[in-house]
Amino acid sequence: MLSDVSSPWDAPAPEKVGRPSAFGLLPGELKARGCPNDANHLFSLLQRPWNWADGTPKLGKDNRTFLESFADLSLPKMDESIESSDGTQKLALRLTDGRRIETVHMPRVVKNARVTMCISSQVGCAMGCTFCATGAMGILRNLTAGEIVGQILSVMSVLGPGTSSRLTLVFMGMGEPLHNLEHVHRAIQVLTHTSGLNIPARRITVSTSGLVSGIEKLAKLRPRPLLALSLNASTDEARSRTMPVNKVWNLAKLRAALDTWGLRSNEKFTFEYVLLAGENDTDEDADRLVAWLGPLSRGHNLNLIPMNEHAASDFHEPSEARIQAFSDRLKGHGCFVTVRRSRGRDVNAACGQLAK
Ligand code: SF4
Repeated sequence: MLSDVSSPWDAPAPEKVGRPSAFGLLPGELKARGCPNDANHLFSLLQRPWNWADGTPKLGKDNRTFLESFADLSLPKMDESIESSDGTQKLALRLTDGRRIETVHMPRVVKNARVTMCISSQVGCAMGCTFCATGAMGILRNLTAGEIVGQILSVMSVLGPGTSSRLTLVFMGMGEPLHNLEHVHRAIQVLTHTSGLNIPARRITVSTSGLVSGIEKLAKLRPRPLLALSLNASTDEARSRTMPVNKVWNLAKLRAALDTWGLRSNEKFTFEYVLLAGENDTDEDADRLVAWLGPLSRGHNLNLIPMNEHAASDFHEPSEARIQAFSDRLKGHGCFVTVRRSRGRDVNAACGQLAK
């Protein structure tokens, strides 16, 4: 049963106008447009940055002329970069209309040099979470599918990885991806295509603040990415204080939406819980969280993220002792808990700050 609740987020975010990006087109669409050569091959040329030269696909004259007749071949450009001591790079990318978005490149210092890329889905965000710098910006517009894919290709062409088999994607940058579901899902279709990056959908995670109507729609789409939920409170009163989405879809409605997701075998949810000192970090909060999760409290991922303090929010990080006690309380209930320090904390750029 799809949610029939009306919300401020039913109104679509503003869209970019102009020609479609060549990087958001699937092979069938290239063919339908009259591609002069094999459309799958042209798609591969566009989507595999390890074969590019100087940050640009090597297309050949007739392919380039064909694409330029109807599409935009420009890519988001790296405008600013801050590198952390842990190897994380926070990047501001400039779009063709001058707007900036933020992408985070996080290499893991292990063999095979795997990279997780945290990507944006919108310029700004309409959800208004009070602990978030992006939320303080408001919504400027949706990214197109071509811009979402383009930010990944653009960063890969400069920073790697040199093959998509070592890349994991998380939609946890600027924006609420389910508020831009059409472009986000088209981007996922492009990213998972076997003639392109060919990233398995199980290596793509979409993180939502709890837009239940979007969760219900995404549940039915294929390819379907993994779902992460930004929870951040254990009572409706507290959650509504920090996350306005909870005033429309409260914790009970959100929990019911997870039951209709239709988990596959071995598929796990990720629950993110930003720990805010004095707001959501008591033992009682931990107990209520477990009660809310019910059967999902075991076998799924629960990430505790101590607040990354920044000027746009008055919240603070709890003490080490409180973080540990909260984590231990959850573990005592059998939860699989990881305390995640935001990568790149020392560069002092919370999500969204760099792109401003
Ligand atoms: S936390 Fe996510 S959903 Fe909330 S305002 Fe920030 S970007 Fe938007």
